Amino acid sequence: MKIAQSAISAFKGRMLFDVPMKDYTSFRIGGNADVMAFPVNEDDLIEVMRFAAGKGFPVFVIGRGTNLLIRDNGIRGVVINVSEGFKETIWLEDDAAVAGSGVLLIELASLCKDKGLSGLEFAAGIPGTIGGAVFMNAGAYGKEMKDVVERVEAVDMNGQKHSFDNAAMKFSYRGCALPANMIITKAHLKFKKDNPDEIKKRMKELKEKRRATQAINLPNAGSIFRNPVEANGRSPLPSAGKLIEEAGLKGTKCGDAQISEVHGNYIVNLGNATAMDVLALVAMARDKVFKAQGILLETEITVVGED
Ligand SMILES: Cc1cc2nc3c(=O)[nH]c(=O)nc-3n(C[C@H](O)[C@H](O)[C@H](O)COP(=O)(O)OP(=O)(O)OC[C@H]3O[C@@H](n4cnc5c(N)ncnc54)[C@H](O)[C@@H]3O)c2cc1C
Repeated sequence: MKIAQSAISAFKGRMLFDVPMKDYTSFRIGGNADVMAFPVNEDDLIEVMRFAAGKGFPVFVIGRGTNLLIRDNGIRGVVINVSEGFKETIWLEDDAAVAGSGVLLIELASLCKDKGLSGLEFAAGIPGTIGGAVFMNAGAYGKEMKDVVERVEAVDMNGQKHSFDNAAMKFSYRGCALPANMIITKAHLKFKKDNPDEIKKRMKELKEKRRATQAINLPNAGSIFRNPVEANGRSPLPSAGKLIEEAGLKGTKCGDAQISEVHGNYIVNLGNATAMDVLALVAMARDKVFKAQGILLETEITVVGED
């Protein structure tokens, strides 16, 4: 795909070409994207979306790339990176805020703690952006983004603005029903007032809990698989990590990818892992767990790009 930044004369942000996606993902894996655009604000985003739509270029949005596996031949079209613009948080009343999709969840959780606002304690160890967290309905320890999101603002491929309230987002376990090719620009969030010391204490406890089970210092993308639930959606089954551990797969390697020795639901990059290496381990884990337990694991990470 041949385009030059001058082709979108009104675009104010940075635009990079032939970009190694491994530099933009926590897994440190991924071939090159044709173009990466960093819109500085909503007008800029609309400009690049209309340009891509007009040319028929596919668009893919990333935040911090902490839940992504990009395939080895990269991404055709335009990757829109919201992590440089969209960084503003506006505090509305004393218990509500509008956060830009590029705001880091960890930073917002910390600000909430200082302001005595409860609701994001669970997010203390989740390394993504607000946009990625809302899209994934990120959660931990029984709490999810859906518990604090009131409304989401987004822009579509034609540059049209949309607004979705919590019900319209149809949040589910690690997902939502945001229509395809819609880019979240802002999230309206509502918190509960509480004592900052109590919030700090809860965050510390959750961080320690996380550290005890997920002390992983190698590049990874968080949980690879969703935790399975019974068909009736009620009774919890063993976690994906436990099932993989019971299948004897902890520590298993393929190339430079390894099922973590610390946590069965994490795959780590030992140095030069490829997406093919990771996907081979994903297939192996699904196969062994299905044969042993009759449970089909579904991936939580988003896998995109060309082989
Ligand atoms: C060490 C580690 C621990 C983690 N722990 C947790 C955890 O406890 N709980 C949990 O839920 N997750 C966890 N994750 C996964 C991940 O951090 C979250 O899913 C996070 O919310 C993803 O945000 P991101 O900005 O990195 O999104 P990305 O990885 O960049 O994108 C993820 C998906 O969201 C879409 N997306 C991103 N931004 C937007 C936007 N503005 N508009 C529309 N779609 C968008 C992307 O297209 C993609 O499909 C962990 C990851 C790591 C590496």
